[in-house]
Amino acid sequence: MKRHNTFNIPFKNARLGIHEYKFQVDSIFFKDYESKTIEKGNFDIVVVMDKKESMLDLEFQIEGAYEAPCDRCLADISIPVVSKQRILVKFDDFGKEDTDEVIYIGTDETNLNVADLIYEFVSISLPMSNTIDCESNNFKYCDEKVLDYYEELEEQAEQIEEEEKEESSKIWDALKDIKLN
Ligand SMILES: [Zn+2]
Repeated sequence: MKRHNTFNIPFKNARLGIHEYKFQVDSIFFKDYESKTIEKGNFDIVVVMDKKESMLDLEFQIEGAYEAPCDRCLADISIPVVSKQRILVKFDDFGKEDTDEVIYIGTDETNLNVADLIYEFVSISLPMSNTIDCESNNFKYCDEKVLDYYEELEEQAEQIEEEEKEESSKIWDALKDIKLN
């Protein structure tokens, strides 16, 4: 993936302290990663690097949106994502294993490629379900008719459940009476 060289952070030449790097990813980026969850999406990523003597402390500030069929009404909606993720980068030449909090790179490295980290951090920042608060934007994106239809179905199901409950409590009452007699 040659194009991902644009995601390099040249940390070696940076002075100690805070630095900011800005990146953008689009649908092609997610296609390259064969993402199953994001087909269309655009995200701005600001990486704030605190360079210390022995490590890099990185914060990824993610802001953007992806398109997906709404889980409730199946209309194509744009789902906003805002997230912050943190990772430490330490140096090691003896094959230490990465963890969720720390990744290791060789002591002779001069650049840190953050493409994989951006992909991973965007992926874990997605909401559990593809829905938006469609009431608050006056159903601009969601299919109101489908939502109304489901609401009706839900109400009907609740009513049936209610009736069944009543029915079974009647049976219990009847049984109770038998016992008492
Ligand atoms: Zn919807």
